[in-house]
Amino acid sequence: MKASRFFVSTLKEAPADAEVVSHKLMMRAGLIKRLSAGIYNYMPMGLRVIRKVEAIIREEMNRAGAVELLMPVVQPAELWQETGRFDKMGPELLRVKDRHDRDFIIQPTSEEVITDIARQELRSYKQLPRNFYHIQTKFRDERRPRFGVMRGREFTMKDAYSFDRDKDGAAKSYDAMFGAYRAIFDRFGLQYRAVAADTGAIGGDLSHEFQVIADTGEDAIVYCPDSDYAANIELAEAVAPAAPRAAAGAALAKTPTPGKSTCEDVADLLGVPLQTTVKSLVLATDERNEAGDITGTTVWLLLVRGDHSLNEVKTGKLPGLKAGWRFATVGEIEEHFGCKPGYLGPIGTRKPVKVIADRTVAAMSDFICGANAVDFHYTGANWGRDLPEPDLVADIRNVLPGDPSPDGKGTLAIQRGIEVGHVFYLGTKYSAAMSAVYLDENGKPQPMEMGCYGIGVTRILGAAIEQNHDERGIVWPAAIAPFEAVICPIGYDRSDDVRAAADQLHDALAAAGIDVILDDRGERPGAMFADWELIGVPWRVVISDRGLKAGTVEVQGRREAEATALPVAAAADTLK
Ligand code: ATP
Ligand code: MG
Ligand code: MG
Ligand code: MG
Repeated sequence: MKASRFFVSTLKEAPADAEVVSHKLMMRAGLIKRLSAGIYNYMPMGLRVIRKVEAIIREEMNRAGAVELLMPVVQPAELWQETGRFDKMGPELLRVKDRHDRDFIIQPTSEEVITDIARQELRSYKQLPRNFYHIQTKFRDERRPRFGVMRGREFTMKDAYSFDRDKDGAAKSYDAMFGAYRAIFDRFGLQYRAVAADTGAIGGDLSHEFQVIADTGEDAIVYCPDSDYAANIELAEAVAPAAPRAAAGAALAKTPTPGKSTCEDVADLLGVPLQTTVKSLVLATDERNEAGDITGTTVWLLLVRGDHSLNEVKTGKLPGLKAGWRFATVGEIEEHFGCKPGYLGPIGTRKPVKVIADRTVAAMSDFICGANAVDFHYTGANWGRDLPEPDLVADIRNVLPGDPSPDGKGTLAIQRGIEVGHVFYLGTKYSAAMSAVYLDENGKPQPMEMGCYGIGVTRILGAAIEQNHDERGIVWPAAIAPFEAVICPIGYDRSDDVRAAADQLHDALAAAGIDVILDDRGERPGAMFADWELIGVPWRVVISDRGLKAGTVEVQGRREAEATALPVAAAADTLK
């Protein structure tokens, strides 16, 4: 491939709405182009990565015995009414009408359609098990589309659906998919964890998320370094005791020193490491009358999500408020902590706390904190120094690093992750609702046991970049790089030698099956190198007259600090 015939379009600056590094770099490297909120064009460079991701997924899905088909993006509402999801799903489901005023939906996933296929096609036990998958455009009208392709509204998903005779069969299908997912994510070259996830009403333990490890991930995962225990935070929380933490409380009770404090001081005071979740922070607000006099104090020991109005706090109508959590009285706080209740609030405002304890230390920047007594405040505590945006950081949960692991084999650690895949045992939820039955050996109709298995194809790009980048740009794992190698000739248009050597190396690499691009655009070396570093091509070969005189070209891996001069033939071998 010659760059002049391909399409390379890079930007010096990322657009202002790009918050996370992957979004910024994908925009700058010309992988995607925004069309509307959460809706992107996949530009030629980005599409190459998508196709590589898809190819790996296809190979491993096929190897695991799944069969590819393709279901429509636009699906009739009737099927979705059969399962009740047409009404139940809420605004995330995009509903459209055709010219005859008939209802349709744009698929966010395809359980209904695949179950409709299964009930027509799979009639006998002899046809089971079966696993169908497709790689198709999805639409979810996300409340907050953001981070580029990571939380898009339109995105590409691989979704697979298994059909079995019974639970044992379904468990086997599940295991096969679990194994295929491991193979897929191993091949991507990403650091990930398979974590147990909630199975909801279905019950059992057959739900796992595949989480790519990244500090900017929207999810938190809880694991035990000494054992196999790993769960997403929701599940870990569900099994953890809901009682407020004595440990954090005891830390708060240490006599705080007045005056300035650093984030380290505050973290120390709270007895938690920086960048970890804090729970059971004791918070209080002053209640004031119209004149602004303090008339009382509301205190809570709450761990909830996001910013909330005081009214929501007082009435306990907080999303995420768990059974067992409640407001503490001022007296209880005094008794427990040995000091009057304190507060956390943005500096300067001295308003009642709007930020509830459901943030990490990292998420709280520039807060004053402390107890409600003269000279008993911490000021200038910047808990968010050099740390990610509040939105990206874990909410306070009922699980802390250092808690005992539920399997009794060690203590827990917490890290951030990006959900890139999800395997889920569905039972007969859809087959029962839609009468998808097969006839068993005795000719008796039985509902099919189902499982569903998703991978966020386009989200993989964002996740891979969050995990693999440096100050110069993306550092693609070779398996999903848009090109594996770039040849950067210096003086391609001026020097016959350089041109001949570059063309020759290009052809040799291409013949060896390497995805190579030759930059013949005539850019100056600095700009040319910067482009390919930004795009993140794993290998670069620089060919110049000077090098050729010495019989060498310069080969440099994207993560390497320096190039190595190699004889031309050796360079080709290195890359092959
Ligand atoms: P999330 O918790 O991030 O909203 P989800 O649990 O709703 O994801 P699933 O229904 O499990 O997603 O879908 C399977 C996969 O599709 C997810 O694991 C994820 O990789 C991907 N995915 C889901 N929503 C989006 C989105 N808005 N943009 C890009 N990929 C997505
Ligand atoms: Mg979702
Ligand atoms: Mg999820
Ligand atoms: Mg999921």
